[in-house]
Amino acid sequence: MGLFESDRIKYIKNGEGIKGEYIVYWMQECQRTKYNFSLKTAIKLSRENGLPIYVLFNYLSGYPEASKRHYDFMLQGLKDVKDELEIKGIKFIFLEGDILKNISKICQKAGFVIWDKGYLKYQIDIRKKLLNLIDATVIEVENNVVIPVEKVSLKEEYSAKTLRDKYNKIKRDSEERFFYEEYTETEYKNIEIESLDCSDRYIPRVKKELDGEFLGGEKEAFKRLDHFIKNNLRFYSDKGPDNEVSSKLSPYLHFGQISPLEILYEIERVKKFSKEKNEFLEEVIIRRELAINFVYYNKNYDSWKGITYDWAYKTLAKHLSDTRTYLYSEQELEEFDTHDIYWNACQRQLVSTGYMESYMRMYWCKKILEWSENPEIAYKIAIKLNNKYLYDGRDPNSYAGVAWCFGKHDRAWREREIFGKIRYMNSEGLKRKYNMEKYLEKYSK
Ligand SMILES: Cc1cc2nc3c(=O)[nH]c(=O)nc-3n(C[C@H](O)[C@H](O)[C@H](O)COP(=O)(O)OP(=O)(O)OC[C@H]3O[C@@H](n4cnc5c(N)ncnc54)[C@H](O)[C@@H]3O)c2cc1C
Repeated sequence: MGLFESDRIKYIKNGEGIKGEYIVYWMQECQRTKYNFSLKTAIKLSRENGLPIYVLFNYLSGYPEASKRHYDFMLQGLKDVKDELEIKGIKFIFLEGDILKNISKICQKAGFVIWDKGYLKYQIDIRKKLLNLIDATVIEVENNVVIPVEKVSLKEEYSAKTLRDKYNKIKRDSEERFFYEEYTETEYKNIEIESLDCSDRYIPRVKKELDGEFLGGEKEAFKRLDHFIKNNLRFYSDKGPDNEVSSKLSPYLHFGQISPLEILYEIERVKKFSKEKNEFLEEVIIRRELAINFVYYNKNYDSWKGITYDWAYKTLAKHLSDTRTYLYSEQELEEFDTHDIYWNACQRQLVSTGYMESYMRMYWCKKILEWSENPEIAYKIAIKLNNKYLYDGRDPNSYAGVAWCFGKHDRAWREREIFGKIRYMNSEGLKRKYNMEKYLEKYSK
């Protein structure tokens, strides 16, 4: 796949002649140094304008829905970023506190400001506000997709098929490869960073607390990809809760610690397992970028009224008064206190490890729909628990994944109680497909 650089890198504000003293790259969605088009743009501009680069990261305690688990993972990754940038001779500044205040202050003397594009409301909103506070030239870079979202489609896509058809029409250039120009440290200008109240802070060193938890960082992300390709890709078609052969790259993709483009290139280098490769690429490119298309074009992606189709709302409404044999409160669900041993096990996995295998995520959310007073309450509980516990939560995939359980990107099925025509799942299906005893052994206590 080509790099689509001209579609990725957008000048969204013209600094009108401001040369500035340095270039700022405000890193947020793309917490890595490899395959980072924002960094690449900064280096190019540095060479063209003879200005040094400062890469900033602003640490905000109280980021929407973020928990200690998310912060730890992120900080582990930022340590890698700092080390790798130092090797390139680029200064990394770790700030704490108010994003708008900190970034706009540092950008006062900047000639160019570069940032990663985000797709969620909060990310879009903060960039709009920042844009008004900065005089420099601002460049927004779409770093975490294989093909930039507007290059593929200018509207919300109906399903994986409609998106896939559009991807298939886009011309590939498989020869093009990512590279950085060399960064030659321009004469260091003293920009008095220390005198700003957002001075360069020490990045706390965070260890993994529990076994099974994820360790953040681009080095670890690449190790996982490499391990997956060497050991598990061949079994990918049979992935399931009893074997855990999937890549477990979702936390790294969420924090931008690995690029989907790098994943694609590494997978393409594998000469065998074409069926498994296609299935994996369908998930990591089509399904993942369908989720991005969903949150980008659907302004109600996170509220009950906007997440699914008319037919789905209608069929769920028709079954609102159906008897619910089991009804659980949010607390009972959160504390894995239901009659269903499989569901309790996957909720326990969610809480204790911050990860859940893909098939179990579907089962988990379908049962929340079945056991809640109504679909809207179910939706809210599912999103809340998903984002609270999963390392990869708070992602476009979170919103699309949960919405899928309510009919989004899916089709109508045989009508039944509570679900209406929404796809149904039950534990018989789990037992038929997988060795669930093996799963229970791991997560039932
Ligand atoms: C109810 C529900 C909630 C979900 N919540 C999240 C979430 O919060 N964050 C998240 O990243 N994914 C979510 N997913 C999608 C998917 O289940 C996970 O991305 C996947 O299980 C992560 O494990 P993995 O990295 O081992 O996946 P692999 O099978 O190895 O796939 C590789 C990558 O492809 C992407 N991918 C895989 N399956 C999907 C999918 N169905 N939709 C979109 N992208 C996909 C992910 O980026 C994943 O890391 C959810 C799915 C459902 C049904």
